[in-house]
Amino acid sequence: MSPARRTFNLAPTPATDRADDWRDDAACLDVDPELFFTGGYPSAWGKHPEDAARAKAICADCPVVAECLTHAYEVGDGHSIRGGLTPSQRDRLRRKAKRKEAQAS
Ligand code: SF4
Repeated sequence: MSPARRTFNLAPTPATDRADDWRDDAACLDVDPELFFTGGYPSAWGKHPEDAARAKAICADCPVVAECLTHAYEVGDGHSIRGGLTPSQRDRLRRKAKRKEAQAS
């Protein structure tokens, strides 16, 4: 059985002003979104390192990488490369930030 086709969750939030939407500047705007997904299996990135590398290379030149990463955390994206990071990399980054925050308080 093939995994279900997933699409980017880049729909604007209600508070977003479409005239000034960061998504319009995304480097992946004209790229097949499938490159950034693993069919709903986040752990599959290890089986598709070439795809992950290609997606990350696009993110590396993206002018809205910070906005994308923030949005990925806000919506809890656990399936795709966003902001140049896989879901597990984003999880590690978040845990590291929380540890630092806890140590600072
Ligand atoms: S950081 Fe990557 S996934 Fe996010 S908008 Fe830019 S190119 Fe697309």
